[in-house]
Amino acid sequence: MSPPSPTLPRFLDEAKSLACIHCGLCLGSCPTYLATGNENDSPRGRIYLMRAIQEERIPIGDTSVRHIDTCLGCRACEAACPSGVHYGELLEATRDHIEHHHRRPPFQTFLRRILIERIFPHPWRMKLALAPARLIKRAGAGHLFPKFIRDALSLLPDDMSEGDLPELSRALAPSLSLHQMRGEGGGEGLRALGRVGFIRGCVMNVMFGRTNENTIRLLNLAGYDVITPRDQGCCGALHAHGGNLSAARAAARANLDAFSREPLDAIIINAAGCGSTLKEYSRLLPDDPRAAAFSAKVKDLSEFLVQSGPLSAVSGAPSTINSKLSTQRVTFHDACHLAHAQRITQPPRVLVKAIAGDNYLEMPEPDVCCGSAGSYNLTEPEMAERLQVRKVGNILRTGATCIVTTNPGCLLQMRTGLDKAGASHIETLHIADFLARHLDAGNP
Ligand code: SF4
Ligand code: SF4
Repeated sequence: MSPPSPTLPRFLDEAKSLACIHCGLCLGSCPTYLATGNENDSPRGRIYLMRAIQEERIPIGDTSVRHIDTCLGCRACEAACPSGVHYGELLEATRDHIEHHHRRPPFQTFLRRILIERIFPHPWRMKLALAPARLIKRAGAGHLFPKFIRDALSLLPDDMSEGDLPELSRALAPSLSLHQMRGEGGGEGLRALGRVGFIRGCVMNVMFGRTNENTIRLLNLAGYDVITPRDQGCCGALHAHGGNLSAARAAARANLDAFSREPLDAIIINAAGCGSTLKEYSRLLPDDPRAAAFSAKVKDLSEFLVQSGPLSAVSGAPSTINSKLSTQRVTFHDACHLAHAQRITQPPRVLVKAIAGDNYLEMPEPDVCCGSAGSYNLTEPEMAERLQVRKVGNILRTGATCIVTTNPGCLLQMRTGLDKAGASHIETLHIADFLARHLDAGNP
């Protein structure tokens, strides 16, 4: 082993990078290794590369960076690893180091430093940037542009809805279904069970406003007042995953400020990618005493609805509450950052199965990445497309007519893939929309 350089900072936590015992048990769960069969595109190979870069046994150059770039950051390896390797943390540290010491081609620099870091995290900038793209898409003029622009255009949903959420949304008298599920008497004058914060997200707020509204409606129906602080910002996931840890820390501090004004029972997020970063603020900001308390309160919507009680009772009475969805055959895709980073796989299934009943169909490889992976489908479109095709094939194999998931990127990626495969009849739904539709069905 070469001695550490006196000039370059040590970016890897030594003990965490040495936790890999090279057993290879993670290889079969790594989507890029499954796609290429190249050890350098596997978790074990990438950890070896990270250590080699740290120890300056190999230079930071196009070849080494390539294998780190093609990692989805899906963390399937972390969930499979018997040694408890914190792969996501090693990856973020390595990407941060690379971005400080490697010069990228101009287009990649534009994508990473401008589009992903300076536009996507700011809703009004994103709206401005998307306006011409939507015009081009509506005019059907996409074919006039190169393939990577056509691919990016295809990701734009046709039915974008912007969120306009109130700062406080009060607990509702329980809906008929929830009311019956709880076995409670009365209806009006419900006292809130508690007060939760809601993180509206960047992409969610601009493209999936109705989903955010449905999320709040579900929380209100579950008996909770919901606070949506206006001065909250991007969670920092895009920065952390893209190698800009200082910007991720600044975003985390801003959210700690925004959510620290009043006591909250929980902080709810409905986007899996954001949720995993929010739950790791304590790692991003180890010296900020507020970070651990904040992270401990962050709950994915599905996790909270099941843990908090009322909606978990859905599982006992699917036949009485299923109306609109009874003819749909439903499957579920695990968003990587919910299944692998947060290790949440059962709560969303409990909710979806409760409504779909016998019409629930488990797909092959439900937790293999669809290729979205945050901004990966923009920076690595070829690998993203290979994984998209694999995911669509697995969806089609089920015969499902509706696929439910918990992350906006996965929804866009699967929608595009299904359309390309001529399967536009298969509906893609966020779990909040799926549940809200069901509740609406029972409560005209
Ligand atoms: S990351 Fe974990 S599973 Fe993969 S080779 Fe290292 S120790 Fe084994
Ligand atoms: S994060 Fe995903 S793509 Fe990257 S090495 Fe781990 S399993 Fe493979």
